[in-house]
Amino acid sequence: MGSPMDTLKCELCGLEHMPGATRCDGCDQVLGQPLDIPGMREELRQMRLRVLLSVAALLLMILGSFVLFEGAGVIYLTAPIAIGFHSAWRWRALSRHLRTLATRRT
Ligand SMILES: [Zn+2]
Repeated sequence: MGSPMDTLKCELCGLEHMPGATRCDGCDQVLGQPLDIPGMREELRQMRLRVLLSVAALLLMILGSFVLFEGAGVIYLTAPIAIGFHSAWRWRALSRHLRTLATRRT
């Protein structure tokens, strides 16, 4: 049984990790590095754009499937789906943390 001192805590979401972990399982933050708030704001903008592009790609795949196969076939690419999910998940962690900082300041 390890003590709480044996674990690494994520600076962004507070999730505890085993020693030696390099990235957070909860929010994909690099562990053991100070938070870069301006960098996080920029990343938040990028993640929002990626989510929008992934949704657009998904809609184009659905539309393409109907145009090419008239509903009988499906164009299915996992990359836009995976990028969309990862970006949405990271965007959520960043926006939560930045919102918490904003409410603490006011
Ligand atoms: Zn985290």
